[in-house]
Amino acid sequence: MTQINIEPHQSEPQGLLSLFEKRKKIYPARVSGNFRRLKWGFMAVLLGLYYILPWVRWERGEGAPDQAILVDTINRKFYFFFIELWPQEVYYFTGLLLLAALGLFFITTLFGRVWCGYACPQTVWTDLFQLIERRIEGDRIKRQRLDAGPWTINKVTRKIIKHTLWLLVGLCTGGAWVFYFQDAPTLWADMLSGQLYFIPTFWMIFLTFSTYLMAGFAREQVCTYMCPYARFQGAMFDEESLIVSYDKTRGEPRGKAGEGGDCIDCNRCVAVCPTGIDIRNGQQYQCINCALCVDACNAIMDKLGQARGLIRYNTFHNTVSGSSSLKNLFKTVRFIRPRTIFYLAIINVVGWTMLYGLLTRPLMDINVIRARNPLFITLSNGDIRNAYTVHIVNKTWQHQTYTLSTNHTTGTIFIPDVTGKAHQVDVSVKPGKVGTFRLLVDRPYTQSSGTIPLTITAKTPKFEDSYNSTFIMPTETN
Ligand code: SF4
Ligand code: SF4
Repeated sequence: MTQINIEPHQSEPQGLLSLFEKRKKIYPARVSGNFRRLKWGFMAVLLGLYYILPWVRWERGEGAPDQAILVDTINRKFYFFFIELWPQEVYYFTGLLLLAALGLFFITTLFGRVWCGYACPQTVWTDLFQLIERRIEGDRIKRQRLDAGPWTINKVTRKIIKHTLWLLVGLCTGGAWVFYFQDAPTLWADMLSGQLYFIPTFWMIFLTFSTYLMAGFAREQVCTYMCPYARFQGAMFDEESLIVSYDKTRGEPRGKAGEGGDCIDCNRCVAVCPTGIDIRNGQQYQCINCALCVDACNAIMDKLGQARGLIRYNTFHNTVSGSSSLKNLFKTVRFIRPRTIFYLAIINVVGWTMLYGLLTRPLMDINVIRARNPLFITLSNGDIRNAYTVHIVNKTWQHQTYTLSTNHTTGTIFIPDVTGKAHQVDVSVKPGKVGTFRLLVDRPYTQSSGTIPLTITAKTPKFEDSYNSTFIMPTETN
């Protein structure tokens, strides 16, 4: 058997070998270029949507909330513009999650981890925090010097301003988040008058500090160590995925300008990388495909009068074969391939099925629970009575009157203290509410079998829904 000995590092005390490398703080340098502008654009749109969406109104009718996107935890409903989901429709959330996952797989197969590089909240907020940091403490070298230097008044002031602004952004993030869970204008008025109750306050504080910690301190550590997506992304790439790659054939041997390949070993691509890696070492799991190194290298190539694209989005296939230039890149990428067709097909099936289900779903539901204790009672006139709890979900925003009936031709039904005994009874349910009724069903005793199928139906002139239950009749042995 092979024995593996792990030798502790010389500076480590014997028996205390750490399995984790100490974090090296990253100081990403400022960069400008097409991809940086694209990232600013994504950041502006996504942050704008995040802060504005809770204020968008959507008229649903009297009594209904008029907030376009609302997670109504009190009434356990989710509103998204014209869509309104009830707890019974939780499968739509499963469908949405499935669609989101499939969409992510599809995009990753085509363009690598662009979600991570451009649209993931961790990236967007980290970018914003870094922007503030650069404005207060300066670019990479200045920040490094400031951190390494002594605690002067200048350093303390800058740090205080930076952390205050970070906390303010965190507060705005947490503040906006709670607006998705309650009527935003009402909650805002509560905030201004200091009448906020515990749950929104808790979430605001929690999100303020989690944003502050994640975007201010954890940063690339979240992408590298905490997010599982970084680990299984490799399974989604193929040799045709467009990922940020270094053109080794053109760049090596690196060195002084004009003496070897096109890479002058200036390290600009490493300096701007938000995860601190050197893309020239090949594809690495830390890379979030943000292409800031592309912008950095393109700027160097421009200065040297060389063609752009030493680092660029390219496929593994092209990188290895060296068969494409930047100009004909899109002609050489196979966007349509079995994997992308497969994802697109499933996305379409799930998406259209969900949409069809949403558009055609009934606007009412009936649910019946039969009382089990006792299973039945025998009345003084010899009839047998069974009791049921009936729930009727009124998914419309109008008052509805439902006529309840059963499929039994003999016997009567009634709701104690509300209706008299009859073959059918009317019940009312408020808009957007669930009506709960205790329904008693009486039938003359028959010597037939103990369990008789019973269908309870609720209907209006427009809607109808039924529930199959049973009626228990005493048998000889009962
Ligand atoms: S920025 Fe370009 S030239 Fe500079 S080290 Fe990176 S790959 Fe080489
Ligand atoms: S290597 Fe380039 S693309 Fe990858 S994370 Fe760093 S800067 Fe972004």
